[in-house]
Amino acid sequence: MTALLEVEDLRVAYGKIEAVKGISFTVEAGQVVTLIGTNGAGKTTTLRTLSGLLKPTSGKITFEGKPLTGIPAHKIVALGLAHSPEGRHIFPRLTIAENLQLGAFLRTDKAAIAKDIQRAYDLFPILGERRKQASGTLSGGEQQMLAMGRALMSQPKLLMLDEPSMGLSPIMMQKIMQTIVELKAQGTTILLVEQNAQAALSLADHGYVMEIGKISLTGTGQDLLHDESVRKAYLGED
Ligand code: ATP
Repeated sequence: MTALLEVEDLRVAYGKIEAVKGISFTVEAGQVVTLIGTNGAGKTTTLRTLSGLLKPTSGKITFEGKPLTGIPAHKIVALGLAHSPEGRHIFPRLTIAENLQLGAFLRTDKAAIAKDIQRAYDLFPILGERRKQASGTLSGGEQQMLAMGRALMSQPKLLMLDEPSMGLSPIMMQKIMQTIVELKAQGTTILLVEQNAQAALSLADHGYVMEIGKISLTGTGQDLLHDESVRKAYLGED
């Protein structure tokens, strides 16, 4: 069986600076896969390249067995790859409902869109309660929920989440992590980029550790969670 996403020897540079230096990884359908690593390791660059926002210098990206390289970002969304970016990037003056609508910009099936908006409200009731309010009034954690809800509105086969726990309280973070588990149970495949290695590895089927543009270690979430070098470098143990 071919993987849902296959990345082979991917290289991405900003001018002369190479941020991603030949990485390879796969995401199988139905799994949660996490990329962990410190600031500047190249995780965001990798996601932005998968989304078609950055052009790789070389390497191969295959989604459902078809090449993704060279395909424009909006067509990549249409193929089933959605991206909830670092920093959320919601539209603060638009209402919550309008932000969710925007996530369905490529779709025309009105009844199904309404159903998916309801699904976002079921997943995150606070969004439903405040649907008519400007999104800028939401807390950081609630904005993260909205960013995830909006990404889901394109009915993705693969949902990519960039640091969803960033800046959140422990309770909010737990809620976001629970939602990831719930989405997986509903059949969504997830590629999760996190600096919070403990949280990400605890729920991931598979993990990759990124260090200065390269993958230094890979294994199941549980293996990495118990790996001594990971515990020292990323889980704050001596
Ligand atoms: P973070 O958690 O801080 O987002 P990251 O692992 O996602 O870290 P990237 O944001 O992908 O890392 O950055 C990888 C490298 O590329 C870093 O050295 C960063 O300074 C550099 N970089 C990122 N964006 C740009 C840019 N627009 N122009 C030049 N260099 C960049």
